[in-house]
Amino acid sequence: MSKVKVGINGYGTIGKRVAAAVSKQDDMEIVGVTKTRPTFEAQAAIDRGYAIYVPEGSIPDFKDAGLPVKGTINDLYKAADIIVDCTPGDVGEKYKAEYEAAGIKAIFQGGEDHSLTGISFNSTANYSESWGAQFSRVVSCNTTGLLRTLNPIDRVIKITNAYATLVRRAADPGDSRNGPINGLEPTVKLPTHHGPDVKSVMPWLNINTMAIKASTTLMHLHTVVIELQRESTTEEILGIMRASPRVKLVNSRKGLKGTAELMELGKDMGRDRSDMYEVIVWEDGVKVIGKMLYYYQAVHQESDVVPENVDCIRSMCKLEEDASASVSKTNKTLGIEK
Ligand code: NAD
Repeated sequence: MSKVKVGINGYGTIGKRVAAAVSKQDDMEIVGVTKTRPTFEAQAAIDRGYAIYVPEGSIPDFKDAGLPVKGTINDLYKAADIIVDCTPGDVGEKYKAEYEAAGIKAIFQGGEDHSLTGISFNSTANYSESWGAQFSRVVSCNTTGLLRTLNPIDRVIKITNAYATLVRRAADPGDSRNGPINGLEPTVKLPTHHGPDVKSVMPWLNINTMAIKASTTLMHLHTVVIELQRESTTEEILGIMRASPRVKLVNSRKGLKGTAELMELGKDMGRDRSDMYEVIVWEDGVKVIGKMLYYYQAVHQESDVVPENVDCIRSMCKLEEDASASVSKTNKTLGIEK
């Protein structure tokens, strides 16, 4: 069977990681990535062997910079079966019209609204909803992290109410423009958009969220409080989490006190870009009292959505009908245990 041809529009934080992950699969391949300017990232993409496609007007800039260009963005649409759109949020509508005109499939990211596609994706919660779809949207890093733990818990023990506070990283490590670089900034418009975003995949869930931007770049940290429909135990919840795909349990007694040590662990594991694809839950920070469940989890914002994009391609391009088979295949190639 020939491989599905994947184009990446927007080779930034998410785009470069999705390109690397797709390149590791045996049922899909990267046919090219787009760059708007001849930056070091364009050079890095070429060094990794990707063909570069650029807007028509940028061709002279790339020529001046001595960077070889394969064609225009329209040429990429002709070469690809599916585009993974990793452009910054809110340009999706313009691009959706272009993908539609070109008759190709596209995956958008969490910076776009659910209404753009009408389908939002999470590998274990709703893989089949994107089956054969022309457009889908992989939910944001925070939403992906929340779904990774909420969905398995809700499957075994129904959730009556979920409340999460998201302590968000202010900027990505490679971003010198955003902040704050000092202090904590609450999102005062409540509840925040994260709860409704979870509901784009689990519409039946009662969830409300609050968020605080913190002057860190490493990871997001969530505090989650859940009212369960029946009494449970800490051991039962840990058992569910141990069995859940892309959930990694760690223990603070092993020196993993916070996000700094977690990202150091990612480096020690030898992962590509030291990425931590799993949502991380502190097992010694999980507590059940009667029907109330409390836990902390950390989300590596730059990478947790990467395996979900690979699975989303499989669902949309009808490469694998079974969600867990796709998850296992992707996990194996990225070094994710389960
Ligand atoms: P980024 O800024 O790191 O990368 C965006 C890339 O798109 C850059 O290479 C930029 O040059 C390029 N670009 C800008 N305007 C463009 C245009 N009009 N056409 C084509 N390319 C253009 O952004 P990112 O962090 O990778 O985010 C991409 C998407 O992924 C957003 O929807 C974002 O919300 C979502 N997302 C980001 C994170 C994160 O923490 N970084 C996590 C999950 C999801």
